[in-house]
Amino acid sequence: MDQTKRPRAEAWFRYAEELGLGPYYLDRASEQSQQPAEAEVAAPAVQVAAAGAGATASRVAQAPPASKPTPAPAFVPQVTGPSLFEERIENDTLERIRADMGPNCTRCKLHKARTNIVFGVGNPKAQLVFVGEGPGRDEDEQGEPFVGRAGKLLTQMIEAMGLRRQDVYICNVVKCRPPENRLPEKDEIGTCSPFLFRQLGVIGPKVICCLGACAAQTLLNTNQGISRYRGEWFDYRGSKLIATYHPAYLLRNPNAKGEVWKDLQKVMAVLGLEPKKR
Ligand code: URA
Repeated sequence: MDQTKRPRAEAWFRYAEELGLGPYYLDRASEQSQQPAEAEVAAPAVQVAAAGAGATASRVAQAPPASKPTPAPAFVPQVTGPSLFEERIENDTLERIRADMGPNCTRCKLHKARTNIVFGVGNPKAQLVFVGEGPGRDEDEQGEPFVGRAGKLLTQMIEAMGLRRQDVYICNVVKCRPPENRLPEKDEIGTCSPFLFRQLGVIGPKVICCLGACAAQTLLNTNQGISRYRGEWFDYRGSKLIATYHPAYLLRNPNAKGEVWKDLQKVMAVLGLEPKKR
């Protein structure tokens, strides 16, 4: 850059941030080079150039988290209008989505090592949907999401909210286990997430709770770390969306349970739920 122009450019950036316009001047390449800290990523962040189809999220609450000592630039989900590839499928059902996926999907490389496709379980008319990252070993063996250690914690969280597992719907961004529980890769997310978007379209829950960065980044079409927007409300195609830490992160960082409980209490308030009596 011509150094004589630098002060003027910096003044414009400051002006934009003071107006709350956020880091509009960052291009995707520079955003993707931002490495979130471990605490930011319940399931560590993937570089999601989101699949596109989920990307109509917009922020409801704009206030930055009160706990931040220095104000970070406002989080700005990349809002895009519907594209030709995003239209809802008329009379879509969970059964049709499952059938379209097929009994032996080979669309991405995750099929090579998986045992079972883990489509999703629960109430097809649920008011609350939990979205995780991808199946682990137990889920791969049993064909059901969140049945391992993290899943047991999720079940406890659901019950603490006064609900049962069968009252909610539980699914993942990718339906096949990434080998060695690695993060799902961008191409895998891009290939599989349209099935998630359709699941959410069919269920039409009042609230979507993203468990960890992968789900949040995919549905909010961002690659920002989860701690930037955890606990805040967004609109996702008419559903209220909130992101919280992944139960696997809580197993490693039990001190974060209080923050997650606060997020779940926000969900309960929206759904009119009372905490379970002990
Ligand atoms: N972690 C996830 O993100 N999903 C599961 O189904 C299990 C563990």
